Amino acid sequence: MSRLTDPSHNTVETKYIFVTGGVVSSLGKGIISSSLACLLKARGYRVTIQKFDPYINIDPGTLNPYEHGECYVTVDGHEADLDLGHYERFTDIRTTRANNVTTGRIYQSVIDKERRGDYLGKTVQIIPHITDEIKRNVMALGKTGRFDFVITEIGGTVGDIESLPFLEAVRQLRWEMGDDCVCIHLTYVPYIRAAKELKTKPTQHSVKQLQHVGIQPDILVLRTELEIPEGTLRKIAQFCNVSADAVVQSVDAPSIYEVPLMMHAQGLDTAVLRKTGIQPCGEPDMSAWRGFLDRMASASGSVTIGLVGKYVELQDAYKSINEALFQAATYCGRKLDLRYIHSEKVTEGNAGEMLAGMDGVVVAPGFGQRGIEGKFAALKWCRTHDIPTFGICLGMQCMVIEFARNVLGLADANSTEMDPATPHNVIDLMEDQKCIHNMGGTMRLGAYDCRLAEGSHAAKAYGKTLVSERHRHRFEFNNRYRAGFEAAGMKCVGENPDTRLTEVVEMPDHRWYIGTQYHPEYSSTVLNPSPLFLDFIKAAIDYGEYKQWEN
Ligand code: GLN
Repeated sequence: MSRLTDPSHNTVETKYIFVTGGVVSSLGKGIISSSLACLLKARGYRVTIQKFDPYINIDPGTLNPYEHGECYVTVDGHEADLDLGHYERFTDIRTTRANNVTTGRIYQSVIDKERRGDYLGKTVQIIPHITDEIKRNVMALGKTGRFDFVITEIGGTVGDIESLPFLEAVRQLRWEMGDDCVCIHLTYVPYIRAAKELKTKPTQHSVKQLQHVGIQPDILVLRTELEIPEGTLRKIAQFCNVSADAVVQSVDAPSIYEVPLMMHAQGLDTAVLRKTGIQPCGEPDMSAWRGFLDRMASASGSVTIGLVGKYVELQDAYKSINEALFQAATYCGRKLDLRYIHSEKVTEGNAGEMLAGMDGVVVAPGFGQRGIEGKFAALKWCRTHDIPTFGICLGMQCMVIEFARNVLGLADANSTEMDPATPHNVIDLMEDQKCIHNMGGTMRLGAYDCRLAEGSHAAKAYGKTLVSERHRHRFEFNNRYRAGFEAAGMKCVGENPDTRLTEVVEMPDHRWYIGTQYHPEYSSTVLNPSPLFLDFIKAAIDYGEYKQWEN
């Protein structure tokens, strides 16, 4: 891919694009940033996206999903904000630890420097020390020379106390970089039903707030339920000092995957190019993306998948799994009918009823005791009724425990996470986890190789025997029990080539009963869906058809 050049073909500096949000949270800054990255990449530019989060946690790894949704994991083992999942799914760009920085990380680094004496006796202050550290991190990826565009999403909403140092850093960078830097502000234009009017005042106030900290947005993206009339857009442009061709509206879309093309139609990518002094030429090559949207539009019939987990009221908790299932269903020509099944409510008595109508079942990852018995009950039903079943991380561990209890007759089998005194620790703490006391960033994290047994179902699904997938766990299958499991029909078909840790179990005599210690959902993208999810959905579709035929 070509290096960014100006019209006279001189190589030019990396361009920095900042995305801030105003009025309310949850406007979809991550989706807008991802869509922009997708379009710039489709124009042949080298792009990366990063997220700066104003909270004090070092990373979201210690956050409960109720606080912040799913914890995403990068290949290099960083526990990251779920927006990095969107970035990867939209762009196929692999992110790393450098793509997600929090206030906590910034302060930790400044305090470490202070302790080392790096500040040579100076009073350490928010300005310039914290802001300089933010600026250094903002530019870290750009400085590698690997990118034409670095898109930086600033978490939170303008006006939050926490975001002030980040906005001050953006203000300084904007001033220092001139045309190499563009600020996009995403706001909300509410529709007041009683008055039948779209209201621009919150946007005006939000832009004022940004101007108050010294940032004049170059581009406005207006999130709206209804199409905003031309006159209203002009009014916003005029009141906010933004040129009329840089006011873009983002009308609620039926699917997040439609947003890149909508943003292109609105001219977001061309506005960014113009503002950074690049003459937009040609069109982004979105043919593969359009291909996916066509599949979405032409999908007929549905595939019904039950997701058994304890965070069912919270859709963001299983974001990557939802998206991986959706992508796989779309590639299989089906609409995804995803049903959340509360693991705390499933019992051996009602499992049949709660799982009725499912073409396939996913047992979700997780931590702790809550809902675990429901996962066992659901798995027992799926295993004994030969329903395509996919256990992910804790879901895989539950497959192992349920099998130990009900097939191997080890009644008290458990994971030492749930019962440290279990006589049958079929899932146990990894050796190198035994002396760890700090919870943050200490799990087995990131991508590891996995060797799959020749001829196994998993190997066939991937079409190869060596794969690399991402992990986030402390406990593992206890290989001392391996022979017993294999003799009774649950095979360990995937293992780490170096440590021999069991990564995949499956029951070869079942339609599709596979558990992975890793999380294949993290690497599933729109243009490269996970082979394992694809295979699972195919099995679910076949099973759905078989059920119909049987009736
Ligand atoms: N709680 C389990 C472990 O730590 C599983 C983790 C997960 O599902 N991500 O091993």
